[in-house]
Parts: sequence; C-alpha cells; structure tokens
Amino acid sequence: MGCCCETNKEKLFNSGILVEHREGAVLPPKEQWEKKKGGYVVIECPKRIPCNPCYTSCPTGAVLPFEDINDTPKIDYAKCTGCGICVSRCPGLACFVIDLTYSEDKAVIKLPYELLPLPEKGQTVKCLGRDGAEIADGEVITVTEPSKDKTYVVSVAIPKDKYDDIRAIKVVC
Ligand code: SF4
Ligand code: SF4
Repeated sequence: MGCCCETNKEKLFNSGILVEHREGAVLPPKEQWEKKKGGYVVIECPKRIPCNPCYTSCPTGAVLPFEDINDTPKIDYAKCTGCGICVSRCPGLACFVIDLTYSEDKAVIKLPYELLPLPEKGQTVKCLGRDGAEIADGEVITVTEPSKDKTYVVSVAIPKDKYDDIRAIKVVC
C-alpha cells in the first residue's frame, strides 16, 4: 500500500485535478521557451474527452487538427504567439500561457478566471498550486475578457522558479 500522500494524489487525479504533469502534457521545448517573448501555451488536459475549442479558437493553427474529437491537444510551437485566446475558450480551464522572459526573477502566467470578485491590475493575489495550496504571492498585470461572455484571462507576475507549480489564483480582499 502507498503512503497517504500517494493516496491523496491518486484521489485528486481521479477527480480530474492534475497533481503533476500527466504523461504527455503539452509543454514547450525549454530552450526555445526561455527566449520567447510573450510566452507559449501550456496545456494540461488530462483525459480523452469530446472537446476541441482549443483547436477551433486558435487563430494561428498552433493547436493541430484533431483526428478524433476525443483527442488530447498537440501543439506546433513554431506557430504559438502566446495570445491567450485558447485560455479563454477552454471549458476545462486547462490552457495557460507562460512567459519566462518577463524579468530576471519573475515569469508571467496568463490563466483562466471565472470567479468574483475579479482581480484588479496591480493587486497582489495568492498563487495556488494544482491542489489549491497557496504557494506564493503574485502581482496582477492585466485582466482581460477576450470576447464577450467568455472566461476572463488574468496575467500575473509570479516567482519564476514556481512557473511549473502555479496554476490558479485567489483574490484576497
Ligand atoms: S496561445 Fe494563441 S496561438 Fe498559442 S495555442 Fe493558444 S490560441 Fe493558439
Ligand atoms: S478545449 Fe480545453 S478541455 Fe477541451 S480539449 Fe482543448 S485543452 Fe482539453
């Protein structure tokens, strides 16, 4: 029998929460990523489900055509501009854009946000890991509604060494 930590991880994963990268998570090549102004998309879509708005919304063709509606997405990173449109369209809140070029010690993550109150530019927010635990403070850079009635996209400056861990924010009033 595994330790309780392993059991909790398994429970979270089975309830649809990613506790770490799933096998085959879509991550940019690191060397290219570290130099890419505006960042690249990171997609953490764990299951084969009948869903493809990441593909249909991408304006550059960076999300490759699905052979089957149940496919998990694949990315042509040469075509990803980091625009964040897929972040606002993914119903699974599984798309993020991460820019590793923001500053020496900070990265910027564009993440989906569907709660109220909305964060405001300049506000300090709590940055959460995949399991909802608070792991750092972040500063809100922009809050955008890319198209009407779609999910807001919040850009947050985060500690660069936590770019692979932070996947949500909490607004503290
Ligand atoms: S960030 Fe923009 S260009 Fe990149 S995959 Fe998403 S929609 Fe396409
Ligand atoms: S839109 Fe989101 S949930 Fe749907 S396939 Fe794409 S990444 Fe997965």
